[in-house]
Amino acid sequence: MIPYGRQDISEADIAAVVEVLRSDWITQGAMVPRFEQAVASYCGAAHGVAVNSATSALHIACLALEVGVGDWVWTSPNTFVASANCARYCGAQIDFVDIDANSYNMSVTCLEAKLATAKRQGRLPKVVIPVHFAGQSCEMAAIFALAQQYGFKIIEDASHAIGGSYQQRLIGGGHYSDITVFSFHPVKIITTGEGGMALTQSAMLAKRMQRYRSHGITSDASEMDSRPESEICNYQQMNLGFNYRMNDIQAALGVSQLQRIDAFIQRRREIAARYDAEFADLPLITPWQHQDSASSYHLYPVRVRQSLCGISQKQFYTQMRQQQLLVNLHYIPVYRQPYYQQLGFSAGYCLESEAFYHETISLPIYFKLSDSEQSQVIEAVREFFTSG
Ligand SMILES: *Cc1c(COP(=O)(O)O)cnc(C)c1O
Repeated sequence: MIPYGRQDISEADIAAVVEVLRSDWITQGAMVPRFEQAVASYCGAAHGVAVNSATSALHIACLALEVGVGDWVWTSPNTFVASANCARYCGAQIDFVDIDANSYNMSVTCLEAKLATAKRQGRLPKVVIPVHFAGQSCEMAAIFALAQQYGFKIIEDASHAIGGSYQQRLIGGGHYSDITVFSFHPVKIITTGEGGMALTQSAMLAKRMQRYRSHGITSDASEMDSRPESEICNYQQMNLGFNYRMNDIQAALGVSQLQRIDAFIQRRREIAARYDAEFADLPLITPWQHQDSASSYHLYPVRVRQSLCGISQKQFYTQMRQQQLLVNLHYIPVYRQPYYQQLGFSAGYCLESEAFYHETISLPIYFKLSDSEQSQVIEAVREFFTSG
C-alpha cells in the first residue's frame, strides 16, 4: 500500500519527544516558544503563534483581524473546508473566488472582477484568504496590490506550503500579507502530530492571537485592569478566547522536524521532477509552475482530461486504488459541501474549480516514498494510459 502522503519520524524526533516527556513541563514550558522562534526565523517573520491546528490558527487570525458578524471573507473553493469555516466561526459571510486554470490557485483576474462588482454593491471583503494549493504560492504581489486598492486584509493559508517560496523569499515572511498560517498535520510538510502556526510581522496581531489561543487570558500585569492592592490577581481574562494551545510534546517534535525541512523539500521536488519527466508523453496534465514560485510540493495533482485520453478521472482513481496505490482527490469545491449548499451556494458557482475537481487526482508524494515505490506508481500510471 502506498498512500498519497505520510510523515517521516526519525530517531532524533523520538528522542526529542521523550526528552520532553521526562521533563517537568509537558505543556506551557520552553519548547513552544522555541518552536515559534525557530519557524519564524526560518521564514523571516517577526512573530510565530503556535496552536493545536491550522484550523485554530485560521480562526484566531480572523479574530485578530476583527472579522465578525456583517463582514465578508473570501477564499478559494479549491481548498480544505477549514479555509472557509474560520470565517463562519466568527459569524462572517463567506464567498469564493474561482481558480486560475493553470496554477489552480485563486485567480487574480477573477478576484479583480469580483472586487469591482462588490465595490459597486457595497459588499467588499474585510479579509481575503488565498490558499497556496499543493505548495505553490498564489500571485501574492498582485493580490497585495488589490488589497491596497480595495482595503482588505490578507491571511495566507499556507497549510501546504512551508518551505516553498515566492519571488525568492520563503513563504511566511509576510511580505504581501498580514498573517500566514501553516499546518503540521502528518500529511503536511513537517508535523507535530496535530498543530499549526500563525506568523505575522505585527506585534499587535501576534499579541491578539496569543490571547485568543489561551482563553483571552493575560498574566502580564501591565495589560490587566487595576485591582485593590489587597487582592491577589495573577491573571485576568480580557476577552472571550479558546484553549487552542500547542503542547511541549508537539513543539519538541516540531523543532526536530524543522531541522530536516530542507531535505524534505528537496526530496519532494525530486519526486515531482521525476513524475514530470516520466509523464511528459502521456495524455495527462502535470502541475504547471509559475515562474515566481518554487513549490514545496505538498501534493502532486495530475489532470485526467477525458477528451484527451478517453479515460475518466473516476476510472483512473478506481484502478489505482485497486492496486493499493492510494491516490486521492484534492479538492471538492468547498461550496459543494452540504453545509455550504445550505447557505445558498449551488453547483456551477465556480466553473474552473468544478472542472478541476472532475479531472484531478493527487499521486503519492512524500519524503519517505522510495525510488522503487515511485517506479511502481509510474508503471501503473503509464500502463493505464498506454494500454488503452
Ligand atoms: C490541512 C489544511 C488545513 C487544516 O489544517 P489542520 O492543521 O488539520 O487544522 C487548512 N487549510 C488547508 C489548505 C489544509 O490543507
